[in-house]
Formats: sequence, structure tokens, C-alpha cells
Amino acid sequence: MSSSWTSRKTSPTSSSAAAARAEAGGALRVPAGALRTPGAVVLISTYELGHQPLSLASPLAALERAGFSPAAVDLAVERLEPKTIERARLAAVAVPMHTALRLGVKAVERIRSINPSCRVLLYGLYATLNAGTLFARGADFIVGGECEDPLVRLAEELDRGGSGERVEGANTAPGVRGPAAPWLRRIDFAVPQRASLPPLERYARLEHEGTTRLAGQTEASRGCLHFCRHCPIPPVYGGRFFVVPRDVVLADVRNQVAAGAAHITFGDPDFLNGPGHSLAILRSARAEFPSLTFDFTAKIAHLLKHRDLLPKMASLGCLFVVSAVESIDDRVLAILDKGHTRADVEAAIALTRNAGIALRPSLVPFTPWTGLEDYRELLAFIERHELIDHIDPVQLVIRLLLPPGSLLIDHPAMRPHLEAPAALRFTYEWGHPDPRMDRLNQELVGLVE
Ligand code: SF4
Repeated sequence: MSSSWTSRKTSPTSSSAAAARAEAGGALRVPAGALRTPGAVVLISTYELGHQPLSLASPLAALERAGFSPAAVDLAVERLEPKTIERARLAAVAVPMHTALRLGVKAVERIRSINPSCRVLLYGLYATLNAGTLFARGADFIVGGECEDPLVRLAEELDRGGSGERVEGANTAPGVRGPAAPWLRRIDFAVPQRASLPPLERYARLEHEGTTRLAGQTEASRGCLHFCRHCPIPPVYGGRFFVVPRDVVLADVRNQVAAGAAHITFGDPDFLNGPGHSLAILRSARAEFPSLTFDFTAKIAHLLKHRDLLPKMASLGCLFVVSAVESIDDRVLAILDKGHTRADVEAAIALTRNAGIALRPSLVPFTPWTGLEDYRELLAFIERHELIDHIDPVQLVIRLLLPPGSLLIDHPAMRPHLEAPAALRFTYEWGHPDPRMDRLNQELVGLVE
């Protein structure tokens, strides 16, 4: 699974990029009609968990439908070539997660150094949450929520020679200090355009029972109905979720199977927010491709509530489910408002196992409320429940992230541990009351790396 930054050329500081921009002065408006030339809009992804980026494929389709000819670069597997940026008039960088954001700001610096007059947009979950910092570091626009429509509207406005300052859903710097306003209206989804992306062979593969399968990724819904306090989705989606039309999802699956995919990851925040919709998609996909396999993400409470669906999903090719277990300590789970207990986790392990589906927990083992004994207990729990092979080592070193807007920041249990917001790391800093935990975390991070 490759996710490294492939361009190693020196990036300027943000202040030197800002100076270069100031020199460019009035050149920032795009000449009317110029944005529709091939490559004048460039979409950039930095990291999407080893998958061919849906955060590129979906806006690519929307822009093409509107008459643009965007270029796309996935920095997880490609270089950012200067000539791609030199001809760009609008560069849009996808930052759907924290790692993508940290790599994305480096990409913005590079774009600024190559082409100071190029307008720069960051879009996705972490762009919304960190808007204030990103504007200070050179972003012209921030788009969050259902990004495709505002992105197309912005491209159209810039192409008319406008400034882009009053486009619905596209945030500009004045007035934005913290998180930006996301676009939360139902959009007209287009089938993701993957033909111009790097082939699936360059991305993560699934190893299953001695075979290696090319893996694709799509989503049947966006947003989430729930309010887990540590999750970055509630501050942006506010408890809303949007289904992607069944025909769009199935067409995306079909295209990826045609490109060689034998396994599909459903990247929805929670595939069981709309269980009927999700099951219908699995049924149709499996009817068309009888050997296709799947995985998805769902919360523990949903696995318990929809326990009757699990054997059906297994028979439709579901190999494993990722679930944000986060902790096995009921006190921590209550602070995070996860909606499950340790006993629920144990029940979900048994239910999925009986159905023939592997449960792959994601974890946040380093919180201000987790001590050395708790960490040892987590390791014992993993061993006792035979989960060692189902947990990626990185899960054992994850430290609680607190992006701006996090629902945890104002929680009474969090406040005593909070330090300053760290603009460079895009998270609030917090300190553990036992310094040994911070040392353990650092040592384990080194070990896992
Ligand atoms: S952790 Fe999962 S269930 Fe909870 S708010 Fe986030 S996406 Fe929804």
C-alpha cells in the first residue's frame, strides 16, 4: 500500500509563496473561457488509504459533465510534474482525512512555487474543519460536504472571468476563522470517472485465502446519522447522510470490475446507516458478478441492531467489516459517545464470526483516559478474541486527534488535558497525565514505522 510523498523537491515557505502571489497581482482572475482548455483545472489527491481515489473520480465526472477537461494527479503513486501545474488555472486538492491534509498543504506550497497565479482550492472533510489555517497558508477557496456541485459552480464562475467570491458552497477567506460552511444539499451524482486515473494495479490489493485480488473502492452513502464525539464527520455533516443513487454505485462497481477489481471496499462512513439501500446494492452487484467480494465499515451498534443481515451479507460476498471499536474501556467509550460498550464489542465479534465475516476493529488506544494497565488489557483482549491478524499494527499506536470543531473539545473530561491548537499539525495538542504513556506512544510509533 503506497502512500508516500513522491516529490522531494524543496518547497518554499508559505510566506515566500505568498510574496510570489502578491507579485502576480491582478493576474489572479482567469481570462474568460480559459478554464475549459484541457488541464486548466487539475485535481490532486495525496492519500486515500491505498485506494484509487474516489475523491478524484467523482469530481472529475462532475466537471467533465459540465464541459471541463480536468487533469488528475494522485500523489500517492504519481509525481507532481511542473508542466501539469504550469498550465493549471485552478488546482483543487482533496483532503478527506488528516494524513491527506498534511500532505495536501505541502502540495499547495509546491503549486504556489511553480505557478503563483493558479487559484487553489482544498476540498473534503479536513478542508472544512481547518479552513482558517488553510486560508492563512495560501488556499483561495475551501469546499466541504457534498463537494462536486460547489466545485463545478466555482469553475464555471472563474471561467466567466469572475472572482469566485460569491459562489454558493465555496468558502473564501474573509470572515472564516474556524471551520468553513459545508455544502449539505443533495447533489446530482455522476458516475465516477476513473479512466484517467492510475490503474488499479498500482493500489492496495487484498490477500485472501492464498489469492491476491485487485481491489476497488466506492461509496453508497456519505455523512453519518451519529455523533461520536471524536469523529470528524459530525462537525461537518451534523447528523445528516446522503445516499448515492443505486445505479451510480453499480455503474462504478461495474467499471472497476472491468478494470480488474475482484473485491470492492465500500468506503461509506457507515454502510449500515441505510441498510436497505446497502443490501440492495450488494444483491445487484453479486447477481452481476457472482465471485465479487466486499468489505464495508459499520459501527458496533449497527452490527448488533442489524444482526439478521450479517449472514445474508456474508452469502453475498462480504469478507470483513471494519468497525470503529476505538476502546474496550466503558468509561472511554462513554466519553467518546460511541453508543457501544465492551460487552457489545464482544457480542459483535461473536455475531460476525458466526456469520462468517471477519471483524476488523479500528482503535484509538492513546487517549488522556487510557493508562498503562488499560493498554495491557487491550493487548490481552485482542489476543483472547483471536483478533491479532485482524488488526493492522498502526491501530495500536493511534493517538486521539482533535481537529478544530471536534465535539470533544468542550467536553469536561477533555478540557483539563487540552493544550493549544497546533496549526501546523491540524489538531489540538493534549497531554497525558502520565508521561509514560506519551513515551510509550512514541516508542511504538517508531516500532510500527
Ligand atoms: S465514528 Fe462512525 S458512527 Fe460515529 S459519527 Fe463517525 S462515522 Fe458515524
